[in-house]
Amino acid sequence: MRKGRKLLCAVLTAGMLTAGMAGSAYAAETNSGKWTKEDAGWQYTYSDGSFAKSQWLKISGKWYFFDADGYMVTGWKKSKGSWYYLDDKTGAMVTGWLELGDKMYYFHEDGSMVTGTIELGDGFSVFDENGAIITGLDGLSDAGWYKVNGSWYYLTMTGHVAQNEFVGGWWIGKDCTWTYKKQSAWHKDSKGWWYGEKSGWYAKNGSYTIDSITYDFDSAGYLVEDGIDYLQLVNKTHKLPDDWEDKVVLKEVENSYGESYKVEQKALKNFLKLRKELRDEDIYIELDSTTRSVAEQQKLWDDWTIEFGEEYVKKYVAVPGFSEHHTGLAIDICLVVDGKRIDDNDEMIAQRDIFAKIHPKLAKYGFILRYLEGKEEITGYGYEPWHFRYIDDPALAKEIMDSGITFEEYCEAQ
Ligand SMILES: [Zn+2]
Repeated sequence: MRKGRKLLCAVLTAGMLTAGMAGSAYAAETNSGKWTKEDAGWQYTYSDGSFAKSQWLKISGKWYFFDADGYMVTGWKKSKGSWYYLDDKTGAMVTGWLELGDKMYYFHEDGSMVTGTIELGDGFSVFDENGAIITGLDGLSDAGWYKVNGSWYYLTMTGHVAQNEFVGGWWIGKDCTWTYKKQSAWHKDSKGWWYGEKSGWYAKNGSYTIDSITYDFDSAGYLVEDGIDYLQLVNKTHKLPDDWEDKVVLKEVENSYGESYKVEQKALKNFLKLRKELRDEDIYIELDSTTRSVAEQQKLWDDWTIEFGEEYVKKYVAVPGFSEHHTGLAIDICLVVDGKRIDDNDEMIAQRDIFAKIHPKLAKYGFILRYLEGKEEITGYGYEPWHFRYIDDPALAKEIMDSGITFEEYCEAQ
């Protein structure tokens, strides 16, 4: 959620005109007087010598406020329980977006400041009790729960305000607020995965968004699964099975830069958990490259052959059908260090300290590191500390990671 995007979309769509200043008794509309400048400020005077004071006045289509001495007020103004902002120079009441210092505010058409949520052109935005929009650098640093005017809101990593979805097991309703209900969770039994409360409600017969991913559940309440072999080897000599793309369930998600990626549903769920755990330790990782279909790879191959020639393409582009990125189970990450994105291969490899903290956590979430240092002959790829492969089995992932063998060697031994 970047400021620029928000600014472009300052179109109100929700009903919001509450009983505000414009309807109150001390507001009036006039053009009958004239502006006069005194030493202490601007006044609005009439031909009989009287002037506007202690009131709102609409002059030539704009609202102004005059204090008890009759001077035009600028800056913040509290009136009838709501905050308003009067332009620093002109004194005209502000509506819509306002940037003050490093904060962004939004004012209703009646001039009252928004706190809590409001639906603007591109979804809901949430403002704190002082009216400042809640967001962070690229939505990254301020994700989480916020209490405003007694209601709880959740701002996701990608900067959208959660609505009609589960966050950490809690249901967030249509109005973007959390209302107390029992906490749901993932459960597994002999028939598969289900989501709900152990003693009652569970998701069934449709789609539910749970921690940023939308899942499908069948009529019995079980997660609609992929039907893929999570241990499928795909490399330069092992082709993606022909029916794979029909079976794999890919989900779309935005990274914190607002870029959209597709990842297999369980791989994505676990990646988001891994990202969260790392974030809590001030290590920031983001999706950088994920699924590429065979058709997309073929197009890249063809386009580059025309542009750079066959020799070049054979050297630098994976043969369509022979890239692990076709599986939906491979994730390339980038790092965010001091708010700066690092995605250049050499720069990433240089971040050894950070990767040394990331890699030991992979297995817990069912991932392995795929292209190991010193094993280039076996994998066919140089060292890639950023390329993670999901295998859906934390215990096996730990075994593979601890042994220091490649996935090729593991598969060979089976
Ligand atoms: Zn990769």
